[in-house]
Formats: sequence, structure tokens, C-alpha cells
Amino acid sequence: MKKTVDILIIGGGAAGLGAALGAVEAGAKEILLVDRKNRLGGILTQCVHSGFGLKVFGEELTGPEFASRLARKLAETPVEVWLNAFVLSISPAKEALISSRDGLYQVSAKTIIYATGCLERTPGMIQLPGTRPSGVLTAGLAQLYLNEYGYLPGKKAFILGSGDIGLIMARRLSLEGAKVLGVAEIMPYSNGLVRNKVQCLDDFGIPLYLSHTVSRVYGNHHLEAIDLVKVDEEGKIIQGTEEHIECDLLLLSVGLLPNVGILKNAGARIGESKGAAVDGSLMTSLPGVFSAGNSLHVHDLADEAYLEGIEAGKAAVNCLKGVPEHRTMTPLSHNENIGYLVPSYYDESYLGDLLIKFRCRRPKEKCVIMVIADGEIIKTINKISMLPSEMEIIRIPKKLLKNNLKTIEVILEDRL
Ligand SMILES: Cc1cc2nc3c(=O)[nH]c(=O)nc-3n(C[C@H](O)[C@H](O)[C@H](O)COP(=O)(O)OP(=O)(O)OC[C@H]3O[C@@H](n4cnc5c(N)ncnc54)[C@H](O)[C@@H]3O)c2cc1C
Repeated sequence: MKKTVDILIIGGGAAGLGAALGAVEAGAKEILLVDRKNRLGGILTQCVHSGFGLKVFGEELTGPEFASRLARKLAETPVEVWLNAFVLSISPAKEALISSRDGLYQVSAKTIIYATGCLERTPGMIQLPGTRPSGVLTAGLAQLYLNEYGYLPGKKAFILGSGDIGLIMARRLSLEGAKVLGVAEIMPYSNGLVRNKVQCLDDFGIPLYLSHTVSRVYGNHHLEAIDLVKVDEEGKIIQGTEEHIECDLLLLSVGLLPNVGILKNAGARIGESKGAAVDGSLMTSLPGVFSAGNSLHVHDLADEAYLEGIEAGKAAVNCLKGVPEHRTMTPLSHNENIGYLVPSYYDESYLGDLLIKFRCRRPKEKCVIMVIADGEIIKTINKISMLPSEMEIIRIPKKLLKNNLKTIEVILEDRL
């Protein structure tokens, strides 16, 4: 079966919903939003804790509340929504192959917005030594079991990694009556938001073991125990520091990766964020294909993923007039204190301001961010402190960016 649309949005999470609403606001009519799940909201539907919507609605909502508000807004628009529909592939010509309950569709779009969220790092990816018993799972999967299926995956839990999902699951498991014995973090600082460390660990008396990792997993059929060890400044295990801990659940919260498989297979360039390399309008290296949300770079706040989606939706509508014939693609670069930058390029034909998003590599205090275009400082921001868990966003007004720029650099340095 075949179908033609102006804008195809892949993914109905915060970013995809934002993209659809942004595109409607900018005047698009023929929009198709496709999600493989049976309802809209993406990861939000399993995040039953509050902490969403402060920026967008000025209220603290739970994930499902935030998702249903956005879905209700969408229901008032002409956007066509396909649920239980899996996008199998897209091509640079913007043809998508979609497996739906009605059969296989070939959808031809003028623009595509890719908003497929992120994936969790698995035990295999971190090469956890020991046996392979059940009871070792990612924190997001445990969250799905508990919050959507009502299934408590263990009673004596340990958590490896202090990412936000792990911290939130520490509190969630405690509230459900499980004993959370601790959270181990290989870095000397927590990788989650400060509020999550306070509200999810400190308030429940759950110890956070910084500069620690799990060196071995025990158990034949089901998890029986783990070894917790200290690591040195280089992350190497300090022999003789092993502590044997009996537990029946080990959750991993050791990082998220943008879900870029379909885009990569279509030939899109991948950037430093491990999502697509995009320009300031969020257009990937495939003309007319945009990316937003966690599939572009991992966001700590759903509100930001939603707002990024809106930007992508508006840019996609602008692109319906025609993809710019010449994209200038001035590269954005950074110094060693910054982990990655989004976007990867600046295309001067885009008329909006340039939003630069990044994370610092390590916690910093009293520092300064400078944006330098062709050797000239165009923006300086003083910061009291910065954490890798908190995404930084800098807006560079379009008027500050000259034509024919060769380089744009973002520098993060200590303030003297
Ligand atoms: C456990 C957890 C706790 C969080 N806590 C908070 C918090 O307290 N406050 C806060 O502000 N933010 C929080 N966040 C962050 C926030 O929820 C996310 O950044 C945001 O919701 C991501 O939105 P997204 O649309 O990019 O991705 P997702 O919500 O993951 O949506 C992606 C969608 O794409 C669909 N999809 C993927 N591939 C395909 C395909 N091939 N075909 C069709 N559909 C596809 C998926 O089914 C999914 O619905 C949390 C995140 C997590 C994971």
C-alpha cells in the first residue's frame, strides 16, 4: 500500500509530539505521526514520578500526565496518527517502509522528522564479569515492568550507575517495599540530576558509592550476589577492596544512546552526540530529514525534548518550500572540557537563532563559556557551576552570525 504526506514524524514521544504541534503551528496540513507502541507519549508513559512539564506548562506533572496533555493537544489538530506501526526503514529520497496492523505501507514524504528516542546500555555493552543469571536488567526495563505491568522484579536490589533512571528506580523500588542496598558509580561524582540524588537516595537513606563498580556477578539461574569494589582515578579496580553483597536484582543505569539505526542505514552522518550530525535547523546530512529529542542527543528533561521537537517541526515546514540549494555547513567545534555539541554545523540559510546544546565532560565550578566565530568572541557566559548531567543551552541571535563563517568554536574554561 502507498501513501503520500508532507511531513512524516517517526516517534510519538515528547519530541515527536512537539514536532507535530510545531509543524501544525507553522501551517502544515498533511502530517503523519507513526509510533510502534499502542499509545502516544514514548518513555513518558512509564515515568510515573513527577518532575515533568515545569518549563512547558509551569506545573510539575507526572510523565503520563505530561504525555496525555500533549496527546490531547494533538487530538485537536488534523495530524494523522498511526499507532502499533513500526518504521522499518527510510531512504534519502524520503520513502519510508512501515509495518502496520493493516499491512506494509510505503509512505512517501516531502520531509521526515526522526524522533525515535534512545536505547539503554546493556550488561553486554559494559562486559560485566561473572555468570549470566536472570535478575540483571537495565533500569528502564525494570521501570517498565514495575510501572506498566505491575511486576516487582526483585526484593533486594543493587544499582550500578547513578544515571537518572537508576536513581529514580532506587526510590520506586523502595516505595514498593524492596530493599535497595546501594548505588555504585564509577566516577567520583553522581551522573544524575542533583534533585534526583537528593529526592531518590538521600531521602530514603540509600548509600551512593562513588568511585566504585561491580566487579563480579554470581548466580546460576537467578542472581545471588555481586562484588562491589573501589576504583582508582583512572577507573581501575583497586584489588583487595571487594565487598560481597547478596542481592536478587541488579539494575544497570550506565548510559543512554540515541536510537539512530534507521537514520544510519539511510546514510545519515552521525555526530559526536552519537545522534545524527545536524545543522542549526536540526536537518541531518540527508536534505529534508530532521532529527530531535533523545534520538539526536540524550536529554535530561522531557520539556527540552518537546521544545526541540517544536523547532524541528517548524524547520520541516519551512523546508516544504524547498531544501536550500547550498548548505554552508560551517563546523562547530569545542575544547576538551566539553563532551559534545549539537548542532554539528551552522547553515547560514536558516533564518532562526542558533541554539547550541552541550554537556561539560566533568563537574566544573566558576567557569566561563565563550562562543567564538572566526576568531571573534560573540558570546560570553559566566557560570557558578556546571555538571555533566545537566545540558547547557546557549542561544546565539542570528544577527551575531556573519555570512561565510569558517569556524564557530565553543570554549569552556575555568574563570581566573
Ligand atoms: C526513566 C526516565 C526518567 C526520566 N525522568 C525525567 C524527569 O523526571 N523529568 C524530565 O523532565 N525528564 C525526564 N526524563 C527525560 C525525558 O523523559 C526524555 O528525555 C523524553 O521524554 C524523551 O522524549 P523522546 O520523544 O525523544 O523519546 P521517547 O519518549 O523515547 O519517544 C520515542 C518514541 O519513538 C518510538 N519509536 C522508536 N523507534 C520507532 C520505529 N522504528 N517506528 C515507530 N516508532 C518508533 C518509540 O516507541 C517511542 O514512543 C526521564 C527519562 C527516562 C528514560
